[in-house]
Amino acid sequence: MREIQFDAVVVGAGAGGCCAAARLAAANRSVLLIDDHDYLGGRAGTEVIDGHLVNIGAIALEAGGVFEETFSLVGAELDIREPKPGAVFNIDGKIVDVSKGGWGLLLGGLTRHATKVLDQFAQAKGGNLPDGRQSTQDWLNGFTGNATVHAIFRNLCASIFAMNADEIPARAFLTYFTSKGAFKRFGFHPRGTGAAWQALADGVVRKGGEVWLSASATRIEIENGGVAAVHVDRAGQGVRVKVETVVANCGPRALVALTGEEHFAADYVRQTRERLKPAANIVYNFASREPLMSPPGIMTFAKTRRLCNMANLTATCPELAPEGWHQYVAYAVPKPAIGDFDSEGEVEEGLKDLREQIPGFAEHAKMLSIRVMRDAWPAQRTGAGYDMDQATGIEGLWCVGDAVKVYGNGGTQACAESAKIVVDRIMAGERQDTVTA
Ligand SMILES: Cc1cc2nc3c(=O)[nH]c(=O)nc-3n(C[C@H](O)[C@H](O)[C@H](O)COP(=O)(O)OP(=O)(O)OC[C@H]3O[C@@H](n4cnc5c(N)ncnc54)[C@H](O)[C@@H]3O)c2cc1C
Repeated sequence: MREIQFDAVVVGAGAGGCCAAARLAAANRSVLLIDDHDYLGGRAGTEVIDGHLVNIGAIALEAGGVFEETFSLVGAELDIREPKPGAVFNIDGKIVDVSKGGWGLLLGGLTRHATKVLDQFAQAKGGNLPDGRQSTQDWLNGFTGNATVHAIFRNLCASIFAMNADEIPARAFLTYFTSKGAFKRFGFHPRGTGAAWQALADGVVRKGGEVWLSASATRIEIENGGVAAVHVDRAGQGVRVKVETVVANCGPRALVALTGEEHFAADYVRQTRERLKPAANIVYNFASREPLMSPPGIMTFAKTRRLCNMANLTATCPELAPEGWHQYVAYAVPKPAIGDFDSEGEVEEGLKDLREQIPGFAEHAKMLSIRVMRDAWPAQRTGAGYDMDQATGIEGLWCVGDAVKVYGNGGTQACAESAKIVVDRIMAGERQDTVTA
């Protein structure tokens, strides 16, 4: 087995792993970033289907915040195009643009209790939040029973967190909308989301790091309670990488399997089994020669079975599709989203919604892919409100990604934030034997 040495190995080139590698490289640590796939980005990568650039997971990348800051640290460009308006609602076929009137406009037309709900948002902004046990649905029931309002909240929970309103704590929902980015500004990447990770990876290489694709970590070696080496299978060739820091982007469950359960505190292992609740969604990628949606951004639905939102990708990024095609992606969230469900039945429910909600879908849509994201390859490795800490309790071993998000955050921005927290903790010389994982 060949032996080499780096300051840090990042296991997994998903959103969190790419951001962690970029930050470590920017801090002048020698970094090796590896991924077992032959593409970057993991669940936020891009594949080519029939000449279309199809995103596996994330499509909307948030402008600003820790996410964009990470790109600037390695001199990489975040090449996204912001649709205007970015977000609209489709309420029984009527398009409501909330970019100007916000929640007031949306809710005011639906329920006379709108002010009560809006007052709760104002209170949440001031830090007065419900405790973490009440679901968003129960919280909303305290102010209105209006079916359309409940449907909108369900589909917001589904669109952003891949959870149903009776699954996500109201505290996490309100935290997101009152103190996180909440996708106020976002864009689509004209070469697919995967190209964003390529820009970061190029930045890592420019700073002296290495990026290996089709390379799996097969074991993490622990010596005297700290990380000693990562064993990598690189296209059939074994490499032992001596290292002091490992940042794992594979999620805490896979990390425990890679390292050996015996090295972790019993409570850490218990949390990987009992606390983490992977949240699922279903992705319908389709194209049409006829336009099927006119707003250029993301449209959230009201009363549906499972369908929650749909994006008009080629309105801003025609490069994603061969000439003459419009390209869309729609998402459905199963019931339950953080429990077991019948994949085939749930896919069907979403398709029924698409036929009902999108005039022309049945006649004109050419399906590119339908993918159920669940279990070990989910929409979120754990639903909002059920995260673990980035620290593992083992010296030099850290986790990034959407299983270790900050409370109430979600998506690639949350992964980038987890990477910033970890790299800041590493650079501050924090020792894990002194922290509670
Ligand atoms: C359908 C869908 C739509 C979404 N839409 C959005 C959106 O619009 N905007 C947004 O911000 N977010 C969105 N998200 C969420 C976002 O995509 C995820 O939160 C994010 O991509 C998760 O990144 P991660 O850092 O946890 O890493 P992951 O994507 O889980 O990547 C980890 C990588 O590590 C690799 N790996 C695992 N084990 C090993 C090993 N032993 N050796 C080497 N490599 C290994 C994996 O194969 C993988 O490539 C969406 C998700 C889905 C599924």
